[in-house]
Formats: sequence, C-alpha cells, structure tokens
Amino acid sequence: MTSSYRHRDENTFRAMMPELSGNDVNGLGQDGPKRPRTFFWHPPDRQDFGDLQSEVVGHQRQAPELAMAYSRDADRGPRPIEQAAQTSPGSAADWNARVKAFASANEADLVGVTETRDEYVYEGYEVPYPRLIMLGVAMDHETLSTAPSTIEDMRSALEVAGKYNQAARASRKLANFILETGYSAKTFPGPLATALNMIPAAIEAGLGELGKHGSMINREYGSSFRLSAVATDMPLSLDQPDEFGADDFCLNCQVCAKACPPDAITHEKHKVRGTEKWYVDFDKCIPYFGETFGCGICIAVCPWSRPGVAGGLIDKLARRRDRTNQD
Ligand code: SF4
Ligand code: SF4
Repeated sequence: MTSSYRHRDENTFRAMMPELSGNDVNGLGQDGPKRPRTFFWHPPDRQDFGDLQSEVVGHQRQAPELAMAYSRDADRGPRPIEQAAQTSPGSAADWNARVKAFASANEADLVGVTETRDEYVYEGYEVPYPRLIMLGVAMDHETLSTAPSTIEDMRSALEVAGKYNQAARASRKLANFILETGYSAKTFPGPLATALNMIPAAIEAGLGELGKHGSMINREYGSSFRLSAVATDMPLSLDQPDEFGADDFCLNCQVCAKACPPDAITHEKHKVRGTEKWYVDFDKCIPYFGETFGCGICIAVCPWSRPGVAGGLIDKLARRRDRTNQD
C-alpha cells in the first residue's frame, strides 16, 4: 500500500451522489427512442456527476501502477496521419474484409461494422460519419477473476486499464489505415465516454448481445472484453447483430445478480429510452465500483466469460430450441 493512500469506501461515494438519480439521467422508465444524456464518465463540466467522478478517479490515481496505466505516458497508439488526397478503389464488401483483416492483425480481437444512428450519439455531441467500426479486445479471464481490486491487489483493475489502452491502439492504427486509403476516420477510445454510446452500436455491429449485468456477451469471449470504435465515411458493407441465445440464457441465470455486492443487478428488463432491456441500477453500482477501482465482478463471474465455455453453451441452447420447436 502507498504510504499516502487514503481509502474511500462505498459510503464515501454514496454520500457524494447528487440529488439527481443516475437512473433518470440514463433514461430508465422513459418512452423513446431518445438520444442518451451525458453521464458520469463524460467530462465533469458536461454532466451532473462531475464531483463524484473526480473523487472516483482520484481514488484510482492513488495506486501508482494504475495511475501510470491511465496516464499520458501509456502507449495508446500512433497519432493521426494526414488523409490521402485520393480514395483507393474497392467495393463495400472488399473494404469490410480489408478493415477486418487489418484490425485483426493490429490488436483487435473483435471487429464489426454498423451505421451511425442518432440513438448512439450523446446529447450535445455529433458523430458526422455514416459508419462505425466497433472493435473489441479480449481480457485475460484469470486476471479479471481476481476482481474486485483493492489497493493491495490491483490485478483486475490493471488488466482493464491495459486492455483499454490496447483497444485505443487498435482504433488509432485502424484509423491511420483508413486515412491512408483517402477516407476520413475518427477514433473513440475508452475508458472515458465521448460522443458515442458504444454498447448499442457494438450490438448492432454483431459483437454480441446485452447481458443482465448491463455489459455485452460475445459468443467467444463472453463479457471479458473492452470496446473502442472508429467512425468513418469509408463505404463499408454492414454486419448484422449476432443473436446466439445469450439474452434467453440471462432469463434463467442469476449468477451476476447474486454476485453483485450492492445488489445493483435486477432480474427483469426495464424500459430505457423506449427500449425494453437489461438495466443495472447506476445509483447502487457506482459507489461500490468507486471503492473497488472499477469492480468487474459481474463480468468475471458470467458463465459466458469462462474460456472455452461459450461454444458448449451455444450448442446447449440450440438443442433446447430444437426440442421446443418439435414439441
Ligand atoms: S460492476 Fe460490480 S457493483 Fe456494478 S453491477 Fe457489476 S458487480 Fe455490481
Ligand atoms: S451471469 Fe448469467 S444472468 Fe448475468 S449476464 Fe451472465 S448469463 Fe446473464
């Protein structure tokens, strides 16, 4: 433990919550569809949780290795190059294949393409590019499973930070590849939120389904991955959502809900900006998330996240569907 470390527990952060509920900001119970409002992870002057965010980030920065991983000195990829004056020829399907091949060879484990929609863009921001390339970077599940982090054992938090940096590098390398071909490109690396609400776009791009724990479930990595994105005017063909049964599985699974210390995961779907979906109670999650340097328990315990398990689950779900159809 660092000698100057000052522990903040979840009560410290709970006491700093503004009067406003984060669930209202996130659109819980709202008819829609509506654009999402800026929230906790946006720059403090653009949202209502700025003081709380500063305290949570300040708590994280007390751990020297974590502070380094999130610092300007971390390797988050190359600077943007100049866009070529002429666009290179290619069909939409060719570009889709070339983008996937490049990203897969340059630190991305998942790649999918979708169109930009208003409901992915936070109020007060613009994403003036017609297409989004969503990238995923797999986490080491064994390390992730040491969650929650403490000041004495920072392994899971460091794994998350390292993979956000890898996802940033993957997006910046891909953006430069696109700029070289004469098309425009803008990166959206995490972990701080920017213009783009990444999860709905990544679902539409085929990277996975939304789980009860509010994170995505991919058919290979479960919830053990992090996202980044590149917006572009490159004429790419679009990918389709990948529905392999995770949503159905969540209906009968309670693993994440039972494992969540502040009981933030609910068993029913809720209406959020006009869409019925799984939703995690922000006001309950964030104080514990702050205390534990990013928590991560729910994504670590999700059965889909265990290496080698997802394929068997998909087969089991398919057999169950077949039996139901025969009855
Ligand atoms: S991140 Fe932690 S506190 Fe938040 S929902 Fe998941 S398990 Fe619960
Ligand atoms: S732990 Fe179970 S309920 Fe939670 S997201 Fe994973 S599959 Fe769904």
